[in-house]
Amino acid sequence: MLIARSVERLEPYVPGEQPKNRNVVKLNTNENPYPPSPECARVLAGFDLDRLRRYPDPEFAELRKAIAGRNGCGVENVFVGNGSDEILSLSAKAFVENDGTIGSLDPSYSLYKTLAAIRDVEWKGLQGLRGLKGVEGEGLGLSNSSVLSNFSSLFLLTNPNAPTGEFVEPEAVAEFAKGFGGVVIVDEAYADFARANCMALATAHGNRNLIVMRTFSKSYSLAGLRVGYCVGPAELVAALYKVKDSYNVDAVAQAVALAAYADEAWMRANAEKIKATRRWFSQELERRGWDVIPSEANFVFARPAAPATAEELFAALRAGGIYVRYFKTPNTRDRLRVTIGTDEQMKTLLEAIDASYK
Ligand code: PMP
Repeated sequence: MLIARSVERLEPYVPGEQPKNRNVVKLNTNENPYPPSPECARVLAGFDLDRLRRYPDPEFAELRKAIAGRNGCGVENVFVGNGSDEILSLSAKAFVENDGTIGSLDPSYSLYKTLAAIRDVEWKGLQGLRGLKGVEGEGLGLSNSSVLSNFSSLFLLTNPNAPTGEFVEPEAVAEFAKGFGGVVIVDEAYADFARANCMALATAHGNRNLIVMRTFSKSYSLAGLRVGYCVGPAELVAALYKVKDSYNVDAVAQAVALAAYADEAWMRANAEKIKATRRWFSQELERRGWDVIPSEANFVFARPAAPATAEELFAALRAGGIYVRYFKTPNTRDRLRVTIGTDEQMKTLLEAIDASYK
């Protein structure tokens, strides 16, 4: 046997398609339709090639300092990863015993389940936050902390959740984390599109087990750069440092992410545009008889009006060069997840939807 049994068995995570043809309307991987801050272009244009000859700063000191400064915490509370996906993977190493478990909401970001399989530990799903309409067995929710205190070793709480867009109030997250025996990572990949976030919980005095994780891939329009970060108790952050590769964030990524982070106004303006488009687009779908879960993220998770099914529409749109996301699992297969793009892209999508109902 050349390959580890757990890997032989492994069903790999399948990311959304990245079609070669750049003319498609791409609303399938929650990328930002607007460009990153012009400061990123300036940094790239002026990047000193000598910095590529040498290894990057293994502790990403400047970026950490900026993140710590904005959030009112120490640099010892900040960790940076090669995308937030890397932080998730490192967390599975740092916070889970070989006989431990990884928990998350279900449905949620499906990579979590794969991470557990790679780590060869059990994954446990907590049924939907409020229970999706049409899904059997409404979830426990997060409030039942006596039941949940030992749910898993690590709990990955996506907030706003993906693919549903649902949001849990920070007070409920705080309550859940307080009663929870393991580490809670609040995956806030989409928090800049939400009405609130949990960062204050991560930096609060007395926090022992809650980490808030963010990414530059969505609100900062830098999915191609691969930078994410997290903030939490120094002890947990130190554990992540212990298990990371020496140079996990390259020099270009550190410099460009820093420039984007410094231009917060640019990111906020784009997030506001996306939120306005989300409002309008959700109403347009509802007007057409779709069931739309109110979203706090840069996507909506919606059930098409009869007689079309999500699966058929997904295929028809794709054939017409419009890519959305379809997850064929029992509690997601009646809906499409549609990334919020520009107004123009969403109009093109609505026209294609209307055409397929004719
Ligand atoms: N968390 C969630 C909930 C996501 O949807 C994604 C993007 N697919 C990530 C984390 C990973 O983002 P990245 O690695 O680009 O930072």
